[in-house]
Amino acid sequence: MKYVYTPGRLKVKIPNKIVYGGMEFKVEFEDHPVIGGESVWGHWDYPNQRIVLASQLAEPAILATLFHEMAHIIMEMAGFSGLSEKEEWLADIFGYGFFQMMIQNQELCADGTREDT
Ligand SMILES: [Zn+2]
Repeated sequence: MKYVYTPGRLKVKIPNKIVYGGMEFKVEFEDHPVIGGESVWGHWDYPNQRIVLASQLAEPAILATLFHEMAHIIMEMAGFSGLSEKEEWLADIFGYGFFQMMIQNQELCADGTREDT
C-alpha cells in the first residue's frame, strides 16, 4: 500500500488493487514503463488485470495517472475501448477531471468513520 500527497496536502491511499466490473486489477509500479517502444507514465493491462504506474512520477502525477488508467478500464468495460481514436483524450478528460474533483472536494476522501446524523 502506498500513500501519496496531492497539492493541498491531501493524503491519498494508492490501493494494491482496483475492483471494477467484477474484476480485480492489481496496481503495480515499474521503473520507466514502455508500451510499443514509447515511454509512458502508466498503462493498464486487461489480459493480466493490472494497472502499471511509473515509479518515477511525482506524487500528484501518480494519482492523476491512476485515474486516467481507471477511465480506460471504465471505457473498456462499457465496450468503448478502441472504438474511437479519441479514447486517450477521453481518458484524460475523465481521469484528470475526477482527480481535480477529488482535490478540490477533499471531503470526498475524508478518512474516518461514517457518521449518520
Ligand atoms: Zn491512456
